[in-house]
Amino acid sequence: MSEQEGEEVSEDRRKYEFRKLIEDLQDYSGSGTQLVTIYVPPDKQVSDVVAHVTQEHSEASNIKSKQTRTAVQDALTSIKDRLRYYDTFPPENGLVLFSGAVDSGGGQTKMVTEVLESPPQSIQSFRYHCDSEFLTEPLEHMLADKGLYGLIVLDRREANVGWLKGKRVEPVKSASSLVPGKQRKGGQSAQRFARLRLEAIDNFYQEVAGMANDLFVAQRHELDGILVGGPSPTKDEFLDGDYLHHELRDKVLGKFDVSYTDESGLYDLVDAGSEALADAEIMEDKNLMQQFFKQLNAGEEATYGFEPTRKNLVMGSVETLLISEDLRKDVVTYECSNGHDEREVVDARHETKPHECTECGEEVDASDAERDDLIEHLMNIADQRGTDTKFISTDFEKGEQLLNAFGGVAGLLRYSTGV
Ligand SMILES: [Zn+2]
Repeated sequence: MSEQEGEEVSEDRRKYEFRKLIEDLQDYSGSGTQLVTIYVPPDKQVSDVVAHVTQEHSEASNIKSKQTRTAVQDALTSIKDRLRYYDTFPPENGLVLFSGAVDSGGGQTKMVTEVLESPPQSIQSFRYHCDSEFLTEPLEHMLADKGLYGLIVLDRREANVGWLKGKRVEPVKSASSLVPGKQRKGGQSAQRFARLRLEAIDNFYQEVAGMANDLFVAQRHELDGILVGGPSPTKDEFLDGDYLHHELRDKVLGKFDVSYTDESGLYDLVDAGSEALADAEIMEDKNLMQQFFKQLNAGEEATYGFEPTRKNLVMGSVETLLISEDLRKDVVTYECSNGHDEREVVDARHETKPHECTECGEEVDASDAERDDLIEHLMNIADQRGTDTKFISTDFEKGEQLLNAFGGVAGLLRYSTGV
């Protein structure tokens, strides 16, 4: 099932489809080096790619094994066919093409061609790859990249602010101070010197906060957190004082010791704060699971397991659909000629079997059954009912429980339904 044209695709759904595609591609293997992968950056002309593929096609005629030669040429022809759908340049973030004859069991092969349009991040360089497996590593990196964080490093002499976008550090602004050293010049009174020095420090903290506010306040709603680094007591004075915008102060995940406050300090800060970052990434998941358990214990507005959750979804009573990120199941729908429809959850690799209708005993053939990816099946109903879908990581205890004890599927309800 695919989404209707023009319909807005949710970010969670896009992420899921992307992740699923990578997993499917990883599962394929070909005999010999006959699986072709092509990464096309957005600034590469499609006609150049076609020319490259044509060239490879003619060079493939030198491959000794007839079987491999035919397989590679078929893959290249299939890729060329797909490239016809594109104009001068590929879509926004580029294009990745996969094609080849993959093992389908029992010594058989089948031809697979997949096109990924506009991956989550821009393709950096053109790559032509021929192997016994598809090349998915560059996409796996994109999968791991999530989150937007603000970074601040400072001591009394220097400060840098920047972004952490996924795994990428982006330094943005820096400042250096006019704070005098501790040694006063001759002729200056000790008291006056100390006062001027404190004033200079205060001014510098204000300047640093100004840089951070300029950069982060506008994006505070997308911001997943802020890390502050530097030596003690500078970072403590900075955070304890009223320098940062109050909405940013609530976003501070922690303060960390780093030795440098130049651009390299931003990288050190990400290393030092890695644990806090990992926690922040699953914070929303943790909150949702907490809410689920609270409702479950109250016996009220919660549901779990495939069939009860599906019923609630169809009724429109699910506020938020919770799906374990690691759930990989299919759902087979059997409809007998008396109009009874029943569903069975099966392993994704499991073959579809005939089914006896529990209502009337009629046997429904495997070929008459409809088979969907379980997550897509539920997300499609959720989309029609205005239900939010959230994917829950298994990197914490309650997230693991969702997968292992609740069938990987649960729902927070708008009201109690008794289902
Ligand atoms: Zn029946």
